[in-house]
Amino acid sequence: MNKNHYKRCNRFRQQRGVCYFCPRRMRLLSGLRGRLPDDAATLYHLDTRYDEDRGQYVGQRRTVLACAACAREVSAERQDIIPIEELHRRSGFDPGRRAAWEARAS
Ligand SMILES: [Zn+2]
Repeated sequence: MNKNHYKRCNRFRQQRGVCYFCPRRMRLLSGLRGRLPDDAATLYHLDTRYDEDRGQYVGQRRTVLACAACAREVSAERQDIIPIEELHRRSGFDPGRRAAWEARAS
């Protein structure tokens, strides 16, 4: 059990096991090595990969869990600056769904 594992467990509960970007249900795997299954839960840092978003999440949750499929897509494209709305659109992300789980988690 390392710090990231603990964090992943917390986030997993807060997100009810659902990916931040898409409606996929994730699995919490104990070891993250090699190519992950698409539904493996991975930590995603909201404000490190998109410069224009930096500072936006101060004082708020800055890491979320994303499924490995979304994490791969985002990291493959992070050299380009893609608006988060565009990523959400591509992954079928529903902002209303996020608001609902954040309301429950707080
Ligand atoms: Zn996803």
